[in-house]
Amino acid sequence: MTASSFKKLKPGDTIGILGGGQLGRMLAMAAARLGLRCEVFSPDPDSPAFDVVQHATCAEYADVEALELFANDCDVITYEFENVPSATAMILQARRPVLPAQAILKTTQDRLIEKDFVTGLGIATAAYADVASAAALHTAVARIGLPAVIKTRRFGYDGKGQAIIRDGDDLEKVWDGLATKSAILEAFVPFEREISVIAARGADGHVECFDVTENEHRDHILKFSYAPAKISDQLAAQARGIAEKIASALDYVGVLAVELFVVPGENGATLVVNEIAPRVHNSGHWTLDGASVSQFEQHIRAIAGWPLAKPVRHGQVTMTNLIGDDILDYEKWMTVPGATVHLYGKGAPKAGRKMGHVTEVTTASSK
Ligand code: AMP
Repeated sequence: MTASSFKKLKPGDTIGILGGGQLGRMLAMAAARLGLRCEVFSPDPDSPAFDVVQHATCAEYADVEALELFANDCDVITYEFENVPSATAMILQARRPVLPAQAILKTTQDRLIEKDFVTGLGIATAAYADVASAAALHTAVARIGLPAVIKTRRFGYDGKGQAIIRDGDDLEKVWDGLATKSAILEAFVPFEREISVIAARGADGHVECFDVTENEHRDHILKFSYAPAKISDQLAAQARGIAEKIASALDYVGVLAVELFVVPGENGATLVVNEIAPRVHNSGHWTLDGASVSQFEQHIRAIAGWPLAKPVRHGQVTMTNLIGDDILDYEKWMTVPGATVHLYGKGAPKAGRKMGHVTEVTTASSK
């Protein structure tokens, strides 16, 4: 069976989720509300998603037998992180539909392939160059200029595996520090704000986007999301159009996030795509309490073959991530009028670890 043999689920069916973090946990909770069961597969015995499902497999992603048994239990399989090893996805895909399809991971797991794909659609990205050696870095810097950002092609997240290069920096040192053989150099984008679009696409090709979200990072980790983003309606429509184009070109089924930079210009602001996340995304957490349907439910609906909801935002929404020791304030947050607190059940706080989030819906107005 391949992903193309799409199966429409019925209440009581089982969704397999690869990955046991907070995204898997919130997916499973959304599925439960729709009468669907979830089984979680994760190598980490402390996976927060294990707490909310009856059936879980704690095994390595290379454990073929465990993967086969897991697949046998499920009607469809999805994932909460983009770095699913391709061998794992292939084993599962041979038995059950895997959505979004494995081929999509090949594009989104590698920043170079992803950038080639996005520019191939006629959508703007930062100028970029493939860099596989210190010599190639010199050539790329000569072409792209400084400042620039060097990023590993694979396995980067929350600012890990990347560095800003400025005038006068020692390029050999930068290259050695990155400890990789494959990277890309990107021109530094002088953005005025960072936004994202959370889009859902059904197997029938229908796309629904949430209102565009504005994102603020601290130490490379998302700290606040605001919905709607403070951009013109025209730019917001353009951003949603970009997400829809990407989702359609990937023949995507499920929820995906497209992160973009808003770049000021003499003739008005323009958009530059930073990256695609083939999954539910932290910048969509506000939808849990700030919209008529959450990104998690939209993803479940899409992979179940059920109708997508038309999301309606409830008001001005702020999402605050509780990172590391921020979680210690959970009781204080619980007394804030209009605030909804989400704790991920992760145990002791660790610096930089996402422990929970708070959503505040501050007015009832719609844009
Ligand atoms: P990424 O891992 O690609 O999402 O990058 C993490 C963060 O680094 C982004 O959210 C931006 O704040 C910043 N960043 C990444 N690439 C660029 C770029 N080309 N120009 C300016 N800032 C960037």
